[in-house]
Amino acid sequence: MLTRALPYYEFSEGVFEIDEFDCVSVFVIVGEKRALVLDCGNGIGDLRWVIENRITDKPYDVVLTHNHADHIGGAGFFDEVWIHEADSDWSDLLVPPTLEGRKGYAELIRGRENKNYNYDPERDIVDWQKEPAKKILKDGQVFDLGGRTVTIYHCPGHTEGECVAIDDKSKILFSGDACNRNFLLNQNVGGSKEEALRLTLEGLERIYAMKGTAFETVYNAHHDFRGFGSPLGDDVLPNTIACLKSMRDGTAKIIQVPDQLSAEGAMKEVAEYGNVQITWLG
Ligand SMILES: [Zn+2]
Repeated sequence: MLTRALPYYEFSEGVFEIDEFDCVSVFVIVGEKRALVLDCGNGIGDLRWVIENRITDKPYDVVLTHNHADHIGGAGFFDEVWIHEADSDWSDLLVPPTLEGRKGYAELIRGRENKNYNYDPERDIVDWQKEPAKKILKDGQVFDLGGRTVTIYHCPGHTEGECVAIDDKSKILFSGDACNRNFLLNQNVGGSKEEALRLTLEGLERIYAMKGTAFETVYNAHHDFRGFGSPLGDDVLPNTIACLKSMRDGTAKIIQVPDQLSAEGAMKEVAEYGNVQITWLG
């Protein structure tokens, strides 16, 4: 039996963060009639069982913020998923959600965090039995959960099809990987670095304009720069925008830092603004 020991916490009424052993966070938003699951994690243990037996008995949709393996790795355990068209072709991914790749990522995080997790990589990371059916997510799409609605916004930059979600009841922005303190910017978005910067800025400024009205707090999909169940610092989104502007204008402060995703302890070059670092990816 796959482990069911995924930690979860209802940090706001009807809003749950599930911690996939520090790999990625999965959020579940529960309304009066339906629920919405944001991302599927790397695919360790029985996420579906935890959602259906510990969090909600309501019907639910699964929305994937983007097509990286640590967010779609558990998608094979669901029948259908929503994803933006630009991220919907998984045949040629740089990091496909293969069994080997998913185990490798789990090992990387295990080594980096140096913790003893309650799962066994051999037993609890298993192959998909099927590909989920994909439904195409649209900018502005609204999921009516009953008593609360969640609106999806296309916010490219980390990937071409990255989307974020805003819950109108909790006033939380779920930013996926579109905003965090270690922002990985894909240089292929829009076909050039200039376009990637322009599109990312446009997307994030549109979202930031809704701060104080549509949303108050930000939860990104990894809790390594915030506590489990706690929001990201209020300054991260404006600092990300300021950092992107400095990159666009050629005034960015460029420094070398350890690459958190390198098992060999490699260094990488980042642009830094306040508590935010941005790395070119791809
Ligand atoms: Zn990602």
